[in-house]
Amino acid sequence: RAKSAGGNRSELADPEADARAITRHGLTTALPTALERGEFFIEYQPLVHLGDGSVRGAEALVRWLHPQHGVLGPDRFIPLAEHTGLIVPLGRWVLEESIRQARAWRERYGPQTAAGPLRINVNLSPCQLSHPGLVQDTIDILERSGVTPDALCLEVTESALIGADDDLLKPLRRLSEMGVDIALDDFGTGYSNLANLRRLPVSILKLDRSFTQGMQQFPADPVDLKIVEGIVSLAHSLDLAVTVEGVETGAQAEQLRILGCDTAQGWYYARPGPPERLHDLALVDATG
Ligand code: C2E
Ligand code: MG
Ligand code: MG
Ligand code: MG
Repeated sequence: RAKSAGGNRSELADPEADARAITRHGLTTALPTALERGEFFIEYQPLVHLGDGSVRGAEALVRWLHPQHGVLGPDRFIPLAEHTGLIVPLGRWVLEESIRQARAWRERYGPQTAAGPLRINVNLSPCQLSHPGLVQDTIDILERSGVTPDALCLEVTESALIGADDDLLKPLRRLSEMGVDIALDDFGTGYSNLANLRRLPVSILKLDRSFTQGMQQFPADPVDLKIVEGIVSLAHSLDLAVTVEGVETGAQAEQLRILGCDTAQGWYYARPGPPERLHDLALVDATG
């Protein structure tokens, strides 16, 4: 960046960049106290079975209610938390809180939905993956909450696992053997070798929103259709389920259902919201 190369003169020449840097700095130093003060909260976005429209569970998405800046999305502070290492305790908090919520849903609706075990999806950052406490922390949290491991799905981005060596995959393998599902998030945005998929202990591919966007017009772009069709058939032949994110219209949902995708998530069904929101959806119907 010009700033580091040019010293004071270019710093003054780019006040906006400076303001951003100051905010970043302020947010970074405020993170640890924010966790202590309970300024983080979680919104839940339902995961819907494309076959019958029943709710399968939800993805947990963390937010920060900042005393001055209001609600901040994860893109504003997760990178900062990763940089400082706070992501480990923050991620542990998200896991604990989400699993507690999953237990509450299971107590209310039973552990099974029409489409399989009622499940909470939790995002895991690469720093958490390489943290030695991950497996034991997860076991402890599950035991404390008293839910079975099939209540949990951990989402890891494709880019975090590109070129992952065995040491990085070992904790995921352990969790997968315990019955925790692992999903490959934002699939299709990295450049992973498809043959590599066989090595990874994942059971779900989460197709990135960019694919769903290609299906906004009707009829959809034929090349996009072919690509998604190919990914779905490859995934299914490897025994992987396919979830699509960013579904905003009924036409997209129908198109993706026809292409054989299993589960969907997006504004068409519900925006991320408080846990009570799930009660308004089809969860009740799904469990009969
Ligand atoms: P992600 O895991 O790929 O989550 C999906 C993102 O797409 C969410 O953004 C969600 O609000 C948004 N989204 C859902 N449906 C639609 C739709 O129909 N249209 C559009 N345009 N967007 C939709 P959000 O909540 O801002 O989260 C961004 C990213 O932050 C997540 O991407 C995830 O990678 C990360 N993240 C969120 N919570 C956590 C967390 O607890 N830990 C970690 N490590 N990362 C998290
Ligand atoms: Mg995710
Ligand atoms: Mg995603
Ligand atoms: Mg994404």
